[in-house]
Amino acid sequence: MERDKHMKILIVEDELRTADYLSKGLTEQGCTVDMAHNGIDGQHLALTHEYDVIVLDVMLPGQDGFAVLRALRAVKETPVIMLTARDRVEDRIKGLHEGADDYLIKPFSFLELLARLQALNRRGRKQEPVQMRIANLQIDLLARKAFRGTTRIDLTAKEFALLAVLARRQGEILSKTAIAELVWDMNFDSNTNVVEVAIKRLRDKIDAPFSPKVLHTIRGMGYVMELRDAPAGGESEAQGEGGAP
Ligand code: CA
Repeated sequence: MERDKHMKILIVEDELRTADYLSKGLTEQGCTVDMAHNGIDGQHLALTHEYDVIVLDVMLPGQDGFAVLRALRAVKETPVIMLTARDRVEDRIKGLHEGADDYLIKPFSFLELLARLQALNRRGRKQEPVQMRIANLQIDLLARKAFRGTTRIDLTAKEFALLAVLARRQGEILSKTAIAELVWDMNFDSNTNVVEVAIKRLRDKIDAPFSPKVLHTIRGMGYVMELRDAPAGGESEAQGEGGAP
């Protein structure tokens, strides 16, 4: 595989030991690293310099990571990976809604961070707007509204979070485990059907009454949101009727 290009990274983290450890590791990997230890400095650096990826802690003195992210997203799309605490599920959802590209739960391994950074760097700067569109499904991430054509679809907070996770990764098959982690902060337990139930509810609202279908079940693998070419002769897709993949 082609070696990843040199990355310029900003780390915004107030825990000095963590920041130094990350900075040292990334520098050893050939990255150029800038550091900020509070939200004010972090925002200043993020807005005034060009980085390939920004590592942004949520809990910061000065202003928190969400405020930094909002200020950044108002003007540019530098990829951001947020660092969140294990017991702060809502932070993860909020971060994804507000334009974070990925998150890591503390404590995490350096190699995991490195892999995520490389993935974000390869993906490059996203042009993602706050509105997403898949066929006639429109999602407004800021207003947290969803429409099919002109029909407004009422969703609960969790349903919207699930929709946002799927839509942000459209075309990517997400396992039940991944969805459970991203939306519920659950370690996947095969005895629970919470993901299937939620997918069914979401599908009943955003997909079942409408066409074309955009939420697909991939048996044995998970779920994917994407627009597929309609097979000649119309809808013949095995949708799974909300059942387990
Ligand atoms: Ca912190």
